Amino acid sequence: MSIAASPLVAEYCRRTPTSARLAERARNLFPGGVTHDARLFQPHPLYVDHAVGSRKWDVDGNEYVDYFGGHGALLLGHNDPHVADAVSMQLTLGTHYGACHELEIEWAELVQRLLPSAERVRFTSSGTEATLLALRLARAFTGRAKIVRFLTNFHGWHDHVAFGVGSHFDGAASAGVLPEVAENVLLCEPGDLDAVQSLLSERDDVAAVILEPTGATWGKIPIAESYLHGLRAITAEHEVLLIFDEVVSGFRCSPGGAQGCLGITPDLTTLAKILAGGLPGGAVVGRREVMDLLDPQAAAEAGREKIAHHGTFNANPLSAAAGVAALTLIAETDACQRANRYAARLRDGMRQVVASAGLKWIVYGTYSGFHIFTNPEGDEVTAEQIEAGGYDWRKLKAAQSSPVTRDIRLAMLIHGVDMLSWPGGPTSAVHTDDDLAWTLDAFGQAVRMIQEA
Ligand code: PLP
Repeated sequence: MSIAASPLVAEYCRRTPTSARLAERARNLFPGGVTHDARLFQPHPLYVDHAVGSRKWDVDGNEYVDYFGGHGALLLGHNDPHVADAVSMQLTLGTHYGACHELEIEWAELVQRLLPSAERVRFTSSGTEATLLALRLARAFTGRAKIVRFLTNFHGWHDHVAFGVGSHFDGAASAGVLPEVAENVLLCEPGDLDAVQSLLSERDDVAAVILEPTGATWGKIPIAESYLHGLRAITAEHEVLLIFDEVVSGFRCSPGGAQGCLGITPDLTTLAKILAGGLPGGAVVGRREVMDLLDPQAAAEAGREKIAHHGTFNANPLSAAAGVAALTLIAETDACQRANRYAARLRDGMRQVVASAGLKWIVYGTYSGFHIFTNPEGDEVTAEQIEAGGYDWRKLKAAQSSPVTRDIRLAMLIHGVDMLSWPGGPTSAVHTDDDLAWTLDAFGQAVRMIQEA
């Protein structure tokens, strides 16, 4: 059935006429009509005009329980009052001093308190900037050229990480990326420790291994904990830096991120999202001797060239104020546990809906994430097996682009729930029992609607 003829599309269009009009205006301004690829959506994206706690409202007045969560930045929900007060107060004091300020110190001290691996901290303006800087630091520190990455792991959109995530799984450069850059990135299968072991034994030119420690794209393709411990041992043995990209998992899985749960100390960690309390911000943190390449004196004493690093909005006072407020709450309350507990209840409830509908979909996820695998081939696989990294990542990835996947998000939007398109999303510390009941009811209705369509 064509998209236009779908009853789901017709109902979505009926509920969202103002979004449709805004999307029309946007199409003449933005390529594809959007400002972030994750917002591409047929027949048109949703336009939101305000949000509080776990809910948001679109421009037509429809209310949604939100599992987009500010792309994962909003562990504390929309407009957390402590964060909002801190930002409002900072607005009265100034948004950019072009100078050092005390809040950036408080912010970094909180990061250090929560992540003991953060011997030194360098703020950036985004997660993409953080992974870019981390890879450069690793190359400069080791004097080696190659970076090991894992297929489907997302680290932002700069040249070294812009292939092998959703396409170009053969490692070829994607459009606009120099082949020479791609040649210096070695792509491995997720979860295959032997492949990394052989690679590092055969070569002496690998600077770093970077990965999402909860598995690719927010844990959509989970990996076993034993694999991560193995990776730490192998990288240490070969003196290759291990970089945990905790842009999503940092301050989410636990106050100490995924590394806190796993008891693994990476050499470098990249952070963003929750770090800045819902405002723009990122950071690279880690071993002092590596981070010292950013310090002119330490670099000179070590006989090394200093790495230049600028960024107009690094540690800007507004992001610092939001970051300090958010990280303080995360350090001093059970915010992470609440989000994790809610996600576990949500996954259980969704599984019951799937079972009563007689479907072979699998709802899985770890920590405060949930994912719906539509299992197109009807495989006999359990959530536990997927969560333990024991299922074919290609199948998990491929299901993401099936038409039913789009229909799930569409049907959920029609019933007042927003989530990421793959489909799934992050939960927050402020999702309530009412949100759970609302979501499960919406999911039941969405499943019926899809079955009927
Ligand atoms: N790393 C991971 C694991 C991410 O999920 C993202 C963004 O979603 C990034 C890096 C890039 O962060 P940003 O969007 O702040 O550039």
